[in-house]
Amino acid sequence: MAVVERDVYGAVEGGGTKFVCLVGTSPDDIVDEITIPTTTPTETIGAVIEFLRRPRPGVRLVSVGVATFGPIDLDPRSETYGCVLKTTKPEWSGARILGPLARRLGVPIAWDTDVNGAVLGEARWGAAQGLDPVLYLTIGTGIGGGALVNGAPIHGLIHPEMGHLPVPIREDDTFPGICSFHGRCLEGMASGPALAARCGRPVPEIPADDPVWDLAAWYLAHGISGLVLTLSPRRVILGGGVMRQATLLPRIRRMLVEVLNGYLEAPELGERIDEYLVPSALGQKAGLYGAIVLAERARGAG
Ligand SMILES: [Zn+2]
Repeated sequence: MAVVERDVYGAVEGGGTKFVCLVGTSPDDIVDEITIPTTTPTETIGAVIEFLRRPRPGVRLVSVGVATFGPIDLDPRSETYGCVLKTTKPEWSGARILGPLARRLGVPIAWDTDVNGAVLGEARWGAAQGLDPVLYLTIGTGIGGGALVNGAPIHGLIHPEMGHLPVPIREDDTFPGICSFHGRCLEGMASGPALAARCGRPVPEIPADDPVWDLAAWYLAHGISGLVLTLSPRRVILGGGVMRQATLLPRIRRMLVEVLNGYLEAPELGERIDEYLVPSALGQKAGLYGAIVLAERARGAG
């Protein structure tokens, strides 16, 4: 008896501690899902390939999308296309990701940064459906941003690294910053490890009334104001572990309005700021679901 097969996508989100993969077509249609610990590139990518190649009755894998931590080479003309560039995870510097996947799977593959994946996911199924341009920022172990502009995530010389924007320093702030490249950039001043170093305890243990949250909001609002002035996004989505502190988002909203000081005449940057600067709707799944969108696009191109 002939089995009727339907087309499905493979989606992979690569992170520093785990790779999450799924087979399906949307968040409401997931055929299979797996979490693989991030160990060595060979072992981890091998397990990803094994999962995606697994025979599944009734479905046929037609393309794959990969959203991963970086920096990564997104330029198809480059010799290192498909590789992780120099990263703080030593074994992953120069790791080939796309090549082995393409060879072993034999379907079109697209890849992008985890934050570009997240903005694609949020614009399709999450907190910014149908909007463009959209900005997504994650505030966690690091700070990173992805932007969707005219339907596509921004690439470029490398790709945007919004977490390393220089920021003004608040007058009373003597903290030296923790970025190993810049010291007092946005990530150096307001990422999870920066806040933990300021307070001498892990972020989840910092109480809601600690003055450090005002300081964090001050830096994040300055960073976001630069991005709002540059990209003019229709919505800004904030994700990442640091945002789990519920008092932070309202503080950033207030501070952003104050920093912009009425210069941009839009209700979104005034009385409607609550609708403009919003939490991630997809949470930790944003990048993974964005990888489904990447796979769809890879299929179209392939
Ligand atoms: Zn930096």
